[in-house]
Amino acid sequence: MSAPDGIHAPALAIATVPPGQRRIVVRLPNWLGDIVMAAPTIAAIHAARPEAELVAVVKAPFAPLAALLPGVARVLAASRDRSFGELRRTRRMLKDLEPDAAVILPRSTRAQVGPWLAGVPQRVGFGGRSRGFLLSHAVQGWKPYRSAHRSAWFGLLARAFGAEPGAPWLIEVPAAARAQAHDLLQRLGRSGDRPLVVLEPGASYGPAKCWPAARFGELAASLNSAGFDVATVGTDATRDVEARVAQAAGGRVLRTAGRTPDLLTLLGVLAEAQAVVSNDTGPMHLAAAVGTPVLGLFGATDPGVSSPLGQRERHIVYDPEPCSPCFLRTCPVPGHPCLTKIAASRVFDAVRTILAAT
Ligand code: SF4
Repeated sequence: MSAPDGIHAPALAIATVPPGQRRIVVRLPNWLGDIVMAAPTIAAIHAARPEAELVAVVKAPFAPLAALLPGVARVLAASRDRSFGELRRTRRMLKDLEPDAAVILPRSTRAQVGPWLAGVPQRVGFGGRSRGFLLSHAVQGWKPYRSAHRSAWFGLLARAFGAEPGAPWLIEVPAAARAQAHDLLQRLGRSGDRPLVVLEPGASYGPAKCWPAARFGELAASLNSAGFDVATVGTDATRDVEARVAQAAGGRVLRTAGRTPDLLTLLGVLAEAQAVVSNDTGPMHLAAAVGTPVLGLFGATDPGVSSPLGQRERHIVYDPEPCSPCFLRTCPVPGHPCLTKIAASRVFDAVRTILAAT
C-alpha cells in the first residue's frame, strides 16, 4: 500500500504566543525518525517568526542533521546525563542564551523542566495533568490524538505561533556527504554500473520492529541475482543483524553499519540508492526525506502514526495481527507473526514494482 500524503494537525486549540521573539529554542525529539517528522513544524515556526533565531537543542549524534532543519541557525547538544548537575547545566545554558520562547517537542517532564527553571518567558509543549505550570502555552487534551500521524501531532505546537505544519522535509544532501558515502561504498566493493538497493534490517527501538534478518538476506540474494548491488545500513549495535543478513544472502552485501562516521554520510548512502527497504526506523524516514523511493515494513507499529513522508515513491507492507500495533520493544507472541508472515518474495516483488515506477 502507498504511504499517506499530507499533514493535517488534529482539531485542538492552543493559545497563541504573541509575536516579537528574537530567539526561540526548539528542544527536538530524542528519536531520529521523530526529528524528521518534526521538520514541518520547525519550518512552520520559522515561517511564522522569520526574524527569530531558531536554536535547536538535540542529542549530540543528531546535531549534524538538526543543522539542516529548515530555519535552524544554531544547534546545541543535549546531554543524555539525567543527573541534577546536568539539569543545572541546562538551566545555565538556557539562561546564557536568553531565548524569548522555548518549543519542547518531547512530552517528558525532564525536557520541560529546563526552560521553566531558566525562566524562559514563553514555553510551548504538550501538557500533562500534574505539570501544567512548566508550560505557559500547553496543548491539552492531546492523548486521544496520539494515533494521528506524528508530523501532524507535532504540528499542534506550530499552532501556538499561528502556523500549521507545511510540506514534508526535503533534505538537500551536502555534496561532501555524497562524496564520502560514494567513497565508502566503493571501498566496500560497489560496482559502479549496478543500481543500488539499501536495506535497514535493525531498529534501535527493539527487535519487535524487525523483519527477520534471514528474510532480509533472502531479499538481498534475490536483488543480487537481479543485477543490483545491495548495501546495509545501521549502527555499531546492529552489526550482528547485518552479519546475519550477509550470511543469509551468501556474502554479497556492502556492510556500512557502524562505518558511516556521522549522519550526513548515512544520508549520502541513502541518497545514492535507487530504493531503500527498511523496518520502521529513522533511516526509513531519512530515505524518504532525501527523495529515495522507500518500502517500509510495519508490524509492531502503526503506519498511520509513522509512515514515511516525502515527495517520491513511498510504500508500506503492513498485515496487522489482532495484537498490532503493540508498540512493544520485544514481541511476546511466539513466532512474531506480524512480521514473520511477510515473505521475502513479496517484498522483492514490491521493490521491483517501485523501481519500475521510478
Ligand atoms: S506479533 Fe503482535 S505483539 Fe508481536 S510485535 Fe507484532 S504486533 Fe507486537
